Amino acid sequence: MEKKKTSILIIYTGGTIGMVNDPETSSLKPFDFAHILNQVPELNEFGFNLESIAFDPLIDSSNLNPAVWVKIVEIIKENYNKFEGFVVLHGTDTMSYSASALSFMLDNLSKPVVLTGSQLPIGTLRTDGKENLIAAIEIAAAYEKGRAVVPEVCVLFENKLFRGNRTTKHNAEHFNAFHSYNYPDLAKIGIHIIYNYPSIHYPDSVSDLEITTVLDHNIAILKLFPGINKAVVDSILGCKGLKAVIMESYGAGNAPTDKWFIDAIKAAIKNGIVVYNITQCAAGSVEMGLYETSVELLKAGVVSGRDITTEAAVTKLMYLLGKNLDREQIKMLLNKSLKGELSQ
Ligand code: ASP
Repeated sequence: MEKKKTSILIIYTGGTIGMVNDPETSSLKPFDFAHILNQVPELNEFGFNLESIAFDPLIDSSNLNPAVWVKIVEIIKENYNKFEGFVVLHGTDTMSYSASALSFMLDNLSKPVVLTGSQLPIGTLRTDGKENLIAAIEIAAAYEKGRAVVPEVCVLFENKLFRGNRTTKHNAEHFNAFHSYNYPDLAKIGIHIIYNYPSIHYPDSVSDLEITTVLDHNIAILKLFPGINKAVVDSILGCKGLKAVIMESYGAGNAPTDKWFIDAIKAAIKNGIVVYNITQCAAGSVEMGLYETSVELLKAGVVSGRDITTEAAVTKLMYLLGKNLDREQIKMLLNKSLKGELSQ
């Protein structure tokens, strides 16, 4: 009997990677993914069954909203049993938000979901898109002893594979556009793909994929800066319908000790708003209570985001608020790593 071919589903949401030059107008236009093998004939060498679904309209990822994440997880759910792995082609601008959101919205994941994109369109001479796409497909198809090598939502870019909810777009120019500051790379891509097995999460058992389709985006980010004034803080904390605020504080989670500031935070918490403290630093962790400048926050009931990224903090809050949990349950789950987004 002939061995069944490995099947990979490519979901093209939009972004630079899928663009080619239109010889008639000399401008960039999206190419037809139904003909992906014409565009990247190297893919034939895998011998995989490659299928694709392209969004219509395609989305520049700066126009993204939570409805797009729902659409992606629904596509994955509908096709889950037909494919060994999924490659999501996405604009780079908000890819880390999407990777974080998908990690929370997909439960019991036992197959790879690899997000990638490119800095230069696939139809241009020096494109990074071809290599990213080829490596993403290879990783999405990688199985050993019947088990996916990377059964996680991950981001592949240039020569690295990252846990998706640990990534940040840190460079608008270089091919190495993404970085994971607080978690090791899941794989290094060189002549060989070298997997970092101890850092990859493997589920204890395989059960049916569950998806979350309700997210609540009544949240805000309050980024502190020296000189921030009361009117700005009050207007953010006073937003109608606000349920949670991510406070981007300094260093290890420090904030001004001015009475007006602490009172505003206390009042917000009293009004039921979750205040989530994350650091403006790219690497390292919030440690409330370490300095005098965070003791009051701790006493007021501010929740520590430890070493979470802004992207994961935003999407984790949307995910938890969408579940209609009470504030204590939300605080408890914010303290817990749900999908490897926090260090233990
Ligand atoms: N603005 C584009 C996007 O994020 C840039 C890119 O594709 O990298 O969709």
